[in-house]
Amino acid sequence: MQDRLRRLPKVQTVLETELAVQLIQTYGYEDVADAVRTKLQETRERIVAGADLKDEQFCDQAVLGSVQSALKASRVRTLRPAINATGIIIHTNLGRARLAQEAIQAMQDVAANYATLELDLETGKRGSRHAHVEDLICHLTGAEAAMVVNNCAAAILTTLTALAAGKPIIASRGEMVEIGGSFRMPDVIAQSGALLREVGTTNKTHLSDYANALCDETALLLKSHTSNYQIVGFASVPDRQELADLARENETCLVEDLGSGVLIDLSPYGLPNEPVVRDVLNAGVDVVTFSGDKLLGGPQAGIIAGRRALIDKIKSHPMARAVRIDKLSLAALHATLDLYRPPNDPVARIPVLQALAEPIEDIHARAQTLQSLLSKQSGISAVVISSTARAGGGALPQQDLPSFAVAISTRNDSPDMIARKLRSAPHPVLGRISKDQVLLDLRAVAEHEVDTLAQTAMCVLLK
Ligand SMILES: *Cc1c(COP(=O)(O)O)cnc(C)c1O
Repeated sequence: MQDRLRRLPKVQTVLETELAVQLIQTYGYEDVADAVRTKLQETRERIVAGADLKDEQFCDQAVLGSVQSALKASRVRTLRPAINATGIIIHTNLGRARLAQEAIQAMQDVAANYATLELDLETGKRGSRHAHVEDLICHLTGAEAAMVVNNCAAAILTTLTALAAGKPIIASRGEMVEIGGSFRMPDVIAQSGALLREVGTTNKTHLSDYANALCDETALLLKSHTSNYQIVGFASVPDRQELADLARENETCLVEDLGSGVLIDLSPYGLPNEPVVRDVLNAGVDVVTFSGDKLLGGPQAGIIAGRRALIDKIKSHPMARAVRIDKLSLAALHATLDLYRPPNDPVARIPVLQALAEPIEDIHARAQTLQSLLSKQSGISAVVISSTARAGGGALPQQDLPSFAVAISTRNDSPDMIARKLRSAPHPVLGRISKDQVLLDLRAVAEHEVDTLAQTAMCVLLK
């Protein structure tokens, strides 16, 4: 063993070889030296552990070969484009909404230049970043006032902190939602400093439960959209209008966390009604919160809209500053919201809505294109089958969307292995496994991605 340890090259010797000098030019001295040290240390540990290494594993070339691939791998960005063939349109782990071209352009324009972010051009004085989209949100929702923060979680936290810290709030036990990424309503409420009075039971909460829990100090009633689950059967909660009336009669207010929040009625596209923000406000809800990157189809953002006096109070709370939206997201949000105004047709322009509303024949056509590309290769079996997609993102939880998928298999790989290979590609492809088959669902795959998808699959599966 001692002998073999002695035969390991010195770090300095390896670094002086021609290949090392080339690597240093590309990756810099520090990174190459670190990688060489790590590699030699690994080899040393293997020898000590008793590994019987062959002579060629000791030479500079062998060490540098693995150093080169380690360096290359370390420079691949972990955040990079992927193909969403899961059939879940708003997939949180895949970055939710793809942006409309107009939104991408707006981000680019603002990113490359100085911008009028907080500047009142009339007076030349400091302006408000909320002002850019406030009128537009009010126009689209009927709200008196609005503001935008980093995401919907921040919107709820800021709203509760500003309106209810230190005071009781009332919410239904059946609406204590948990969404992904450890967002749990009771924890968010606790964090805000509001004192939660939970009323009702898991399946039933009556108006009288809220009424009995009211006291002089009650800051607000909180309603939450149960966006990723439904309680069915012997279940009910009071109508939001009744709840709004109760709040008003008792001189308190009703806040509703809508989660997804849609700006237009999606029923013409065969989708049942997610509550439309305008209708919710019309029913008397005082403040609503919703996401920018779910069914709205824009960038990550949290929108707070409702009565002016309440919004003003939230705007001026210090937490609003801590969770403020950045200029790129604001630019993208503005451009996305513009697409909801005539003469634009949001369903034709906003990718999330396009994917939701796309005619099934078009999805079938894409599935056939993919199938025929893959079938050109012997070794991959590809079959078009009907599939079920979902909106995702905590929206329309029970709603199945008809779709088509290509089921793929190879002679040697298990479905898990196929899924893993597709995931590990330079341009990762995410499918789903169903009934022991890998399915590539085409509903959330754009026309322009089909070629890349096919190339990737052929490349990683036939290696
Ligand atoms: C998604 C969701 C949120 C959180 O929204 P983010 O934009 O992810 O912060 C909050 N509440 C409900 C009901 C949701 O569905």
